Amino acid sequence: MALVVQKYGGSSVSDAHSIKRVAKRIAAAKRAGNDVVVVVSAMGDTTDELLDLAGQITPLPPQRELDILLTSGERISMSLLAMAITNLGVKAKSFTGQQAGLITDAVHGRARLVDVVPHRIRETVEKGQVAIVAGFQGVSSSNDVTTLGRGGSDTTAVALAAGLDADVCEIYTDVDGVFTADPRIVPSARKIDRVTYEEMLELAASGAKVLALRAVEYARRYDVPVHVRSSFSNTTGTLVTGTHGDAIDPNAPAGDQEEAEMEAPIISGVAHDRSEAKITVVGVPDKPGTAARIFEVVAGTGANIDMIVQNVSAAHTGLTDISFTLPHADSPSTLAALNALQEELGFASLQYDDQIGKLSLVGAGMKSHPGVSARLFGALRDAGINIEMISTSEIRISVVTREDALDDAVRAIHTAFDLDSADGEAVVYAGSGR
Ligand code: ADP
Ligand code: ASP
Ligand code: MG
Repeated sequence: MALVVQKYGGSSVSDAHSIKRVAKRIAAAKRAGNDVVVVVSAMGDTTDELLDLAGQITPLPPQRELDILLTSGERISMSLLAMAITNLGVKAKSFTGQQAGLITDAVHGRARLVDVVPHRIRETVEKGQVAIVAGFQGVSSSNDVTTLGRGGSDTTAVALAAGLDADVCEIYTDVDGVFTADPRIVPSARKIDRVTYEEMLELAASGAKVLALRAVEYARRYDVPVHVRSSFSNTTGTLVTGTHGDAIDPNAPAGDQEEAEMEAPIISGVAHDRSEAKITVVGVPDKPGTAARIFEVVAGTGANIDMIVQNVSAAHTGLTDISFTLPHADSPSTLAALNALQEELGFASLQYDDQIGKLSLVGAGMKSHPGVSARLFGALRDAGINIEMISTSEIRISVVTREDALDDAVRAIHTAFDLDSADGEAVVYAGSGR
């Protein structure tokens, strides 16, 4: 008998009808002889709507209260789903993150799991019942309710799969798997059959929100096989594991592993991200210690810095500009902290630009293929798109463009690297893309 953890995202449970539809899939998995644990997200765009609501009360809601508010979304869907499954004659019980034993640190809004003790979930499964767990939430050691950051239900699912030693973690969403680009922007995107944790980490970190970054990190650490697929079709989706090939048996001969890897594509896909902004510190004295001071202060705000660029110092002035990107949400506190530093460091001014977009080309094969960046830059030139910042890792090249050029840039790069599918358009079954 297999133990399966299934996670259903918001667009799969957006209304009563969808909840009943998903309940049927869960009941079928149970009746097929599996032990089933389900993690569910809030219905549709509930989390965004709750955030909007809080914003109408106050621009800076206390983080503790915001977490209590946001976790209510998953309470609604978990209880309704348990009712729908029970209605089909299969016993089901719902649990909050706290009841399910998801223990986190106390950082509201982006808490990290510190322990997973799913006794009640195990008991429920042993009784032959389906356990439904509210995604995206946990409880701190001081008994405060926390949330795991946007997309956190994926993390809940993978963590439970690891904690329960499940055979597979299935992530059900509104597209047929992980594609070579977001199908909402690139209809010719191709479904990827297999992708490694490393590649998926880079895609997720670069904005491909089909799987949350933390969930991929967790899956890699505990070696949880993740199957990303649609709740609207029966198509096989994308398998995220340690290697590309079938030779995932750790005891398989090394030759098999190598052969599997040789067939790996050079490029996995193109990811994009609109959630970042750029801050430029203008006219910084070009002397040892200034960058350290700037980023000490920025780190103190808890902001998540991504790309950093320092221009060549203008010899006659001895001044330089330092630019970096960070999430929109981290910008107000970072700008305030830097403003307070102006007198000490003596920089001229701060510039803030929230109209940027980031595109990333990801692929483990690119490290052994020179010319990938030249081809990328050439394709953007041919599309008339200006590059504002560049950063690279072993298996990723990222560029910043104007936000309104981003979609065109993604499509141009997708085509330039021959990623377009020959067999029709990718299906987006539901969701608002919000
Ligand atoms: P859920 O509500 O199921 O958690 P999400 O909206 O978080 O769903 O993630 C699914 C969405 O991710 C898709 O509808 C798609 O628009 C977007 N997406 C971005 N990049 C990719 C990609 N490379 N492959 C598939 N989907 C992607
Ligand atoms: N409901 C949460 C969000 O919208 C968690 C999730 O769906 O994964 O971010
Ligand atoms: Mg999601």
